[in-house]
Amino acid sequence: MLNSENMLNDKKEPKVVRMNNLISYNNRIISYDGCPGCAYAGHEFHLDCGLAYENERFTLSQDWELPIPGFMIVAPKRHIEMLSELTEEERNEMFSLADKAVKIMRGKHICERFDYIFEEKENRHLHVWILPRYAWMTENTDDIIADLGVIFEYALCNLRSEDNYREIERITEIVRDGFAAGDFSMRVSESEK
Ligand SMILES: [Zn+2]
Repeated sequence: MLNSENMLNDKKEPKVVRMNNLISYNNRIISYDGCPGCAYAGHEFHLDCGLAYENERFTLSQDWELPIPGFMIVAPKRHIEMLSELTEEERNEMFSLADKAVKIMRGKHICERFDYIFEEKENRHLHVWILPRYAWMTENTDDIIADLGVIFEYALCNLRSEDNYREIERITEIVRDGFAAGDFSMRVSESEK
């Protein structure tokens, strides 16, 4: 049994720093301490594509791990795990940010349709996923949401390329510019009018 006395006496006792790792969308090892959502919100790690948008309450960025262009995350900066922990104002803002990101991407013809996914997993920082519905997804499954694992596996096996990483950076840049310009007017594509 360790106790404070023998820890102090044992000079060889290493200092325990519990770091976690994730593999970024562009195959980089990222280390962080504690909750990844809190670490990202606190700028303790970053993605090469950078943030698409942030304010005092939320971040909007490419998904950290999956190399799917335009697959974005809206996350509150404070650590919460359930939707009910957000104030009404925060809740509205979170979905407004998702809505704006999609309007920008749709307006720039990144994709026509998007799914919005969020979970209340135990011990997980709440976030909303914005998942474009690309043709390659429906070629791999009839039900994207039911087969998210299939989609993610496909992306990890087939989309790890420099060209695709540049596409992810390009889309992040488009969304970043869209938020900076404040123009979310392109609600629907020509085909949907
Ligand atoms: Zn957190």
